[in-house]
Amino acid sequence: MKRKLKLLVTVAVVTGLVVTVYLFGLHNGQMGQEFSLNSKAQAAGGKVKGPNVVAPDRYVYYPGTEKLAKDEVRVIACGTGMPDQRRGQASACFLFEFGNGEKMIFDLGTGSMRNISSLMIPYEYLTKIFLSHLHTDHWGALSSIWAGGWTSGRPVPLEVWGPSGQTPEMGTAYAIEHFLKANNWDYQTRAFKITPVAGGINVHEFDYKGENKVIYKKNGITVRSFPAIHAGDGPVSFTIEYAGLKMVFGGDTSPNKWFVKYAKDADFVIHEAFANPERFTTLMNQPPQLSWRMCCEFHTSGQSFGKIMSAIKPRHAVAYHNYDELLSSVRSGIRETYDGPLSMAVDMMVWNITKDKVVERMAVSPDRAWAVRGPTRQPPPERGRPDPMSDFIKKGEWGPGFNAQNKMLDEYSKKFNLQKMDWRKLKPWYKPGK
Ligand SMILES: [Zn+2]
Ligand SMILES: [Zn+2]
Repeated sequence: MKRKLKLLVTVAVVTGLVVTVYLFGLHNGQMGQEFSLNSKAQAAGGKVKGPNVVAPDRYVYYPGTEKLAKDEVRVIACGTGMPDQRRGQASACFLFEFGNGEKMIFDLGTGSMRNISSLMIPYEYLTKIFLSHLHTDHWGALSSIWAGGWTSGRPVPLEVWGPSGQTPEMGTAYAIEHFLKANNWDYQTRAFKITPVAGGINVHEFDYKGENKVIYKKNGITVRSFPAIHAGDGPVSFTIEYAGLKMVFGGDTSPNKWFVKYAKDADFVIHEAFANPERFTTLMNQPPQLSWRMCCEFHTSGQSFGKIMSAIKPRHAVAYHNYDELLSSVRSGIRETYDGPLSMAVDMMVWNITKDKVVERMAVSPDRAWAVRGPTRQPPPERGRPDPMSDFIKKGEWGPGFNAQNKMLDEYSKKFNLQKMDWRKLKPWYKPGK
């Protein structure tokens, strides 16, 4: 009997403790404070001492569970692939997250928006976009973040930094002006119903010939650009300086003197690395005379990437812009000329960068993410905008189809107190209660 009582008391005390810890965590979570149990959730961690104990470190990052230190930067590869689209790999895109809360997107290639949205970051924090050049595998997902962020609550316009070209028609300002023209129907229809503000894009075009010129300086972050050599005049690479760290994002380029000069001794360097030409003749059915110019004149091969890194000696090098299954052969090429720290980037690879170390992990994020609203509300719709729908089309509304949902909408209207804003009352077909 005594033993039973002792057991009961022990169970009660343990249960009480667990509930207290849980409630404390829940309370902190709801109050917007750091969730005290998070450190346990990020990675199992620890030494394996038996078959039924703690698991080893999984080297994973669960987005939204980790607060950056003030002097820390987290970089996430949201796209590492090629212009031809594959379901499993997006085109060039790297998200930089800074310890001071700033976030910047470097290139926004086709397909990359799905990886960005899987991080479930409110779109009001994803407004600063830097483009290395205007090939679609580096800016094709602009339409997705422009419209998707707009319908998901972004309260402000996007800001896009990009290079000029040899003529105005080859520059970023021209591209964005005509992007907005091409998307006019999308813009007008959303602007009428939501807010036009979030559909704007402010362009910051800078001189592509600038050599290490500052193109952005705010809040402790400095971004500089320098020319790249790729397909025509215009492409650039960027250095990003923050908290005594120097990071480099290279867009498409073949080996060039500016990269070797301005990326020298950087802490973290992202640069393209292409497979040997024979892979493209077989995998992309390219004629041999095109393949060896694509990999090795317009772009940078593994061997050349290695030579560049050996010259600039970064604390950590990242190679990207390839098909995932070619990475081992690209790595072999790189290792012919470089033996320093190296990541072969795949989509959703993550690096945490501080003065002490660079840690590589993989992000674990959902395939079917929801948009997350931030603290700022979107401005209301603008009064007096022209209605993009004519009376001719409106008169085509079929009453019985609309009235069929009345019961469901009445309940909704009651729940959210929308009786005074009932759009149905303005319709000729409206039959309440039917
Ligand atoms: Zn390109
Ligand atoms: Zn490219």
